[in-house]
Amino acid sequence: MELGDEAVGAGRLTEIGAERVRTPMQDSRTVPVSRPAGAGGGFALPQFAGQALRPQDRALAPAPEYVRAGRRMVDSHGRTIRDLRISITDRCNFRCVYCMEPDVRFAPPETLLTVDEIVRVAAIAESLGVRKIRLTGGEPTLHPRLADIITGLAGATDVEVALITNASLLSRDSLRAWKDAGLARLTISIDSLRPDRFARLTRSTSSPAQVIEGVQMSLDERLTPVKLNAVLIRGFNDDEAVELAALARTFGVEMRFIEYMPLDSAHAWDSSKWVSAAETRGAIERVFPLIACDDDEPSSTARTFRFTDLPNDSPARVGFIAPVSTPFCGACSRLRITADGKVRPCLFSTTEWDLRSPLRSGATDDELADFMIDATWTKQPGHGITSHGFVHPERPMSAIGG
Ligand code: SF4
Repeated sequence: MELGDEAVGAGRLTEIGAERVRTPMQDSRTVPVSRPAGAGGGFALPQFAGQALRPQDRALAPAPEYVRAGRRMVDSHGRTIRDLRISITDRCNFRCVYCMEPDVRFAPPETLLTVDEIVRVAAIAESLGVRKIRLTGGEPTLHPRLADIITGLAGATDVEVALITNASLLSRDSLRAWKDAGLARLTISIDSLRPDRFARLTRSTSSPAQVIEGVQMSLDERLTPVKLNAVLIRGFNDDEAVELAALARTFGVEMRFIEYMPLDSAHAWDSSKWVSAAETRGAIERVFPLIACDDDEPSSTARTFRFTDLPNDSPARVGFIAPVSTPFCGACSRLRITADGKVRPCLFSTTEWDLRSPLRSGATDDELADFMIDATWTKQPGHGITSHGFVHPERPMSAIGG
């Protein structure tokens, strides 16, 4: 499949320091992805999702004085943090094959951040420039005090609060309660519309019909825009791209396709199972011609397209999140807090910083703000998935929260 000029034109603008470089969308056959060193397919010893990480060998160095003085979370590559992803639990009722093993052990509850700690960290992050917070997991709807967290965030900050969920536990009452508490919108994961595949992929007793019902309820409760996420794996569900894209047309939502990333707890990721955004787009366009939208935020992870046969203002869109073929790290504005209180400057960080200890040992808000500024300063330039030196993070997606 040859990609024309518009594909090259549709490449992402990344900015590192003063230089703006364009990264063309690449077809999965042309990206030299080598198997990460030591990526065992073997069966790892069961352990707490986040346990594998050794405590830091080195203390967190302070960021330069001028950075601290700016009271913004900026990294050494000139990127500013505006989006905070907070994992509120590492528990999940699914065991998705690209995420966690059936025998995963969860962190002891006392090591997880409390509702008050989550709200305090969020308020400090807002004072440092954060404008959006996404609550993640594991599966955040499993958290018994999710409504309290949302209420706390709405009371302590003015940030937009969103939630990502597998939608298997949604009810109209809970959606209404979260909306009333201050939740703005939802992102829902759905990787297959075929019950048998869905069961094999998620290793759960839930069904696509249940998730679709969750989509409809979320729309009814106006937790919009509702966005849908799917991870396509070659030879597994990559033949469902058109059906999944059709969901966007049926419900008037944005259906995003995320390239499969090496973040699974089994370290079983391998490039032969990976499908590029370009390939997925090509498959969809053979049925539904698309045209690039021109209103994507520079730091947005998704490149969105609308259907040429639908009105320009139709909310039905297709998006591609292509970290492997079209890295968007140059404009990254994201920081993550894990459920057990670690600051992860990058999704693929191999280093993370323990915020929970100062949080629980009497640090002031200013000291915690300095800590978050210092941790951000250490953020790596990008994920390096396609580089030979790539190191598969120890902490799996389920304990990071995506
Ligand atoms: S891989 Fe890291 S740097 Fe790149 S976009 Fe994701 S979080 Fe940002």
